[in-house]
Amino acid sequence: MPKLPKIEDTEYFTNRTYKNEEGQVIGKIILYKLKGDDKFGFYMICQYCGKESEGKVELKRRPYRIKCPHCGKTTTVEKIKPKKK
Ligand SMILES: [Zn+2]
Repeated sequence: MPKLPKIEDTEYFTNRTYKNEEGQVIGKIILYKLKGDDKFGFYMICQYCGKESEGKVELKRRPYRIKCPHCGKTTTVEKIKPKKK
């Protein structure tokens, strides 16, 4: 795991997990944007190949997409759906 920034130093922070059809967690993304920074930092465990990567990316539009440097597949950071009551 990388050293993550403090939430109060970020203007965007999300932590998502990705599950397969059996409900097992197969991938993970932490995506954040530091205040005053124009790039996003990310840490990912790829849901397709299972490898870890981290780095910085420029993301302009939602939904944000992170490309795995190992297998080249793209993971989308969907908007969090509101929980049903
Ligand atoms: Zn991958």
